[in-house]
Amino acid sequence: MSDNVYVTSPLLPPLEEFLPYLEKIWQNRILTNGGEFHQQLEAALAEYLGVEHLCLFSNGTLALLTALQALRIRGEVITTPYSFVATSHSLLWNGLTPVFADIDPITCNIDPSKIESLITPATSAILPVHCYGIPCDVDAIQKIADAWGLKVIYDAAHAFGVKKQGQSVLNCGDLSILSFHATKVFNTFEGGAIICPDARMKQRIDYLKNFGFAGETTVVAPGINAKMNEVQAAFGLVQLQHIDGALASRKAIYERYCELLQSIEGVSLFSAPDNVEWNYAYFPILVDTTFPISRDCLYDMLKAQNIYARRYFYPLISSFSMYRHLPSASPDNLPVADSISQKILCLPIYPDLSVSDQKRVVDIISQCDAHMAHQPSSTPVIGEVA
Ligand SMILES: *Cc1c(COP(=O)(O)O)cnc(C)c1O
Repeated sequence: MSDNVYVTSPLLPPLEEFLPYLEKIWQNRILTNGGEFHQQLEAALAEYLGVEHLCLFSNGTLALLTALQALRIRGEVITTPYSFVATSHSLLWNGLTPVFADIDPITCNIDPSKIESLITPATSAILPVHCYGIPCDVDAIQKIADAWGLKVIYDAAHAFGVKKQGQSVLNCGDLSILSFHATKVFNTFEGGAIICPDARMKQRIDYLKNFGFAGETTVVAPGINAKMNEVQAAFGLVQLQHIDGALASRKAIYERYCELLQSIEGVSLFSAPDNVEWNYAYFPILVDTTFPISRDCLYDMLKAQNIYARRYFYPLISSFSMYRHLPSASPDNLPVADSISQKILCLPIYPDLSVSDQKRVVDIISQCDAHMAHQPSSTPVIGEVA
């Protein structure tokens, strides 16, 4: 049987490049609390990403929780149901009410034209996601936020290094959060960051992520412990030296997939707009009703051949038990998100995905297409392939 191929595989630089950093940590005996590597990584990432200020976090979810605290968000927050659960969970953990808006069928991001009708006197913010790293319609979202006096926090967990018109998308809105989880484009095993526009806000966030301490004996807020440690930060510094190569490999894999899959009937591919430098964080496809077999059938067929594609994002966040009682969680309010979640499949993409493994993925998909094209009248009953 062939090797397992997962939807992603972490970027791991050569171990020998990491060891000198560990030796330094052992020498210094500074393990956390904003040590040398933490300072270096904040500066290096701000420079690499083209942002003014960046606060490192132990993970992306704590960055989201803290971003909502930093802006003192209250009441209702308009967000997308088409994301990883952490997006909405961060609202519940802050005692906020998520209000789900439907998504745009092309980008899978929150549809700005669906936001205004959901605004009430209790609304204080919008929490969109740059899904798959493809930027939201940030201009339309900002216009609504300005008109109604709302804050905008972007869950940019997928958007490491993404630029629009040459500018980092991380500078949009009031704050953006990144995730450096193992499965993301850039990882520190676990980790994350908040990108913020000014030094005062960075100061407040730095207090909040360290219990609210603003000095040895001064506590200014009921903060949390969300600090990135020195081992994570050191790993990030090593990782950063390899990120350009990793992004280039992702682009090549994306282009090869597009070439091999574009003529397959019933499979729709995603692309970023012309003015966007994408990071190819995911390779989503839509398995339409014109494809010979259902999305779930294709998912199972790939799995039978040790290819572990993932249905990001199915089920919708709004369908989980802690959300589905909300009026905005009704599928009638979210027809586009509902439909896309039934068709979506993310194929394996990561920098060292081999050409031969990529071909295995493509062959399984093209075989259903070719097989069924010769039997147009039969009802497809493919469960497994030999
Ligand atoms: C990964 C992810 C998160 C959570 O980040 P962690 O670092 O795993 O806590 C939040 N939102 C989205 C959209 C994600 O994909």
